[in-house]
Amino acid sequence: MRLYDAHNHLQDPRLGPDVSPLVAQAAQEGVVRMVVNGSCEEDWPDVLALARKHAEVIPSFGCHPWYVKERTPHWRDVLTRTLDEVPSAIGEIGLDRWIKDYDLPAQEEVFVWQLRLAAERDLPVSIHCLQAWGRLLELLEANPCPGCGFLLHSYGGPPEMIPALAKLGAYFSLPGCFAHERKERQRETFRHVPPDRLLIETDAPDQLLPDERNRHPLTDPSSGKPINHPANLRAVHDFAAELLGEPVEPLAIRVGENFQRLFGHFLSAP
Ligand SMILES: [Zn+2]
Repeated sequence: MRLYDAHNHLQDPRLGPDVSPLVAQAAQEGVVRMVVNGSCEEDWPDVLALARKHAEVIPSFGCHPWYVKERTPHWRDVLTRTLDEVPSAIGEIGLDRWIKDYDLPAQEEVFVWQLRLAAERDLPVSIHCLQAWGRLLELLEANPCPGCGFLLHSYGGPPEMIPALAKLGAYFSLPGCFAHERKERQRETFRHVPPDRLLIETDAPDQLLPDERNRHPLTDPSSGKPINHPANLRAVHDFAAELLGEPVEPLAIRVGENFQRLFGHFLSAP
């Protein structure tokens, strides 16, 4: 099986200074490509270095709503210069009203600027959204979106919004953490995602699967807390197949085709 991770953060320091063994284990599980999302100016060089080292890595650069307050006055120049270094996507960007002390006007300004850049360059963009789905839809409708489409990572919005988002070019990615009992609403929403718009992600090192599904237990050495291994992508596919009531092989092929449609058009064939 050839698997495509629509969203992770391989550069996260919790995964350690050398992720080569993790990438090798993911490859053993069938992972051929992974979109690695930078989230602030500080981690963009790390994502770039990973892209230069590992053929599996599709780099993506963006200013995440959690780090909007830390951006420097030059963040736009740094972002465009970084995007020019290697073929890359834009993200992770978005809106978040779940974190405390959020500054929504600043988040919106940063989000819209990056969305428009993605549209200008026709680059796939990865979007994070928590508790701001209505506003996100308004902004997507009021601004140009990239023709190639965009990813709503860990889609947690209402099922009713899916057709309008899909019409604008949205793909929806399912994380393993939706397998937890308490995530029933989010999990059930994925039954409404059009088959040709479904993607699957680990979001490693975050969004752990429930213990019984976690095939690659991993611990953050500095905190002793469990973290998510990128090789768990296969386990997330098993969960998706159960949820949607279809065999995992054809599901993986379809998800791979969807991934290629969104992220493959400007990258070399896997
Ligand atoms: Zn993320």
